[in-house]
Amino acid sequence: MRFLGDTIAAISTALGESGIGIVRLSGPDSLAILRRLFLPKGGGKYPPFSSHRLRYGLIVDPVSGQTVDEVLAVYMRAPHTYTREDVAEIDCHGGPLPTQRVLALALASGARLAQPGEFTLRAFVNGRLDLAQAESVMDVVRAQTEASLRVAVGQLQGNLSQRVRSLRQDILSLLAYLTASVEFSEDEMPELAVQPRLLALIEKVKDLLETAEAGLIYRQGARVAIVGRPNVGKSSLLNALLRQDRAIVTPVPGTTRDTLEETANLKGVPVVFVDTAGITPTDDPVERLGVERSRQALGRADLVLLVLDASQPLQPLDLALREDIGNRPLLVVLNKSDLLSPTTQAEARDRLAADPVMLTSALTGAGLAELEEAIVAKVLGGAGLGASAVLVSNPRHQGALARALEHLEDALDAYRAGLPVDLLSIDLAAAADALGEVTGETVNEDLLDTIFSQFCVGK
Ligand code: GDP
Repeated sequence: MRFLGDTIAAISTALGESGIGIVRLSGPDSLAILRRLFLPKGGGKYPPFSSHRLRYGLIVDPVSGQTVDEVLAVYMRAPHTYTREDVAEIDCHGGPLPTQRVLALALASGARLAQPGEFTLRAFVNGRLDLAQAESVMDVVRAQTEASLRVAVGQLQGNLSQRVRSLRQDILSLLAYLTASVEFSEDEMPELAVQPRLLALIEKVKDLLETAEAGLIYRQGARVAIVGRPNVGKSSLLNALLRQDRAIVTPVPGTTRDTLEETANLKGVPVVFVDTAGITPTDDPVERLGVERSRQALGRADLVLLVLDASQPLQPLDLALREDIGNRPLLVVLNKSDLLSPTTQAEARDRLAADPVMLTSALTGAGLAELEEAIVAKVLGGAGLGASAVLVSNPRHQGALARALEHLEDALDAYRAGLPVDLLSIDLAAAADALGEVTGETVNEDLLDTIFSQFCVGK
């Protein structure tokens, strides 16, 4: 996506019936286009607009003279706008037609249809947001829980950027020192403890990287697969966790043939539960498909719940399922604890689980709160969301930080091995570049394309 600096327009609200629908323009001709289409209440062509003041009037087709909608319109002069360019917004009646007609008139008057994310791209190019902040805009839009929203808004306000920028600054000043030390003699240079500084930098990057496990979960949600023999109560358990009747619960074994996905909010963590059909060998083609999907669900799961029937002795299939799960993160759940057989409990503990076996009853609700808690603790890997914690929540940032860490560790090795300063400097420069990718100080056009094409149109 190339930045052109022309005037773009798009419908910035969701299509469909709603209270209002907003057409947004950004670029040098925003005001001229708005004035061409807008007829203020009380008449008068080409009305003067004061910046950031809402006006009431009509949108009129300048060619046919036909009134299209009754609107509120605002012109916002650069630079105090979302994009730092001149911006105009027209609040139409919600609904596909008014907004589409107004957009069509804006395009006919010289605007170009904005590409997905182009408003935010402009905010980035014009320096109002850095890249991590720009990316967090969609995280705010797509946040599934309040905790996810907090993480996204924190990033939008620049808390991650600040940390990364100050790390990058530390690296650059160390780099400057090393470069200078080549040119000047030792007694002209102040003594600088290079190794402790490198170690401190490595620690700080590691600290940030350690937050990624929880951060990614808050942003993307955790996938939790529920597996177990038919009739152990998987669907009932899922319903109890979702607190609503979405899966079909039936006493006939094997009726949940397909996988079923439902998102729940467990203590602020978005959790996608995947209820599987049980991984039972079968000749029925429909069931076979279900079994195949279950295996796939297992493959992509962040956590597996192996559900057992607490009222029956363990069965070969329970053990076979345990084997299928392999070394994926696992919670063993003994459901139907209202009918608990102590031998089953002891057997499950001894043969299936490294962690304590969870006891639940989907029927009475016993143990569900503890199960929720255990799921959250498992998927977050122990890290919680502190009051002002900075979390790395984007895999792209995680990747860049991991590369920065590698380069810093190489630099430390080079220093310890007494290698020439030039080599050390190459590693440090690479580390600074990697950190710069997070905030967008070092970034290429392809990457911008990838990032902004994931945005919605009008954002
Ligand atoms: P699935 O095949 O594993 O999804 O099992 P279902 O959720 O369809 O449940 C199978 C049967 O077990 C149904 O008759 C449920 O009412 C019953 N059931 C599920 N959970 C419990 C429980 O905790 N206690 C008791 N007593 N029955 C349960």
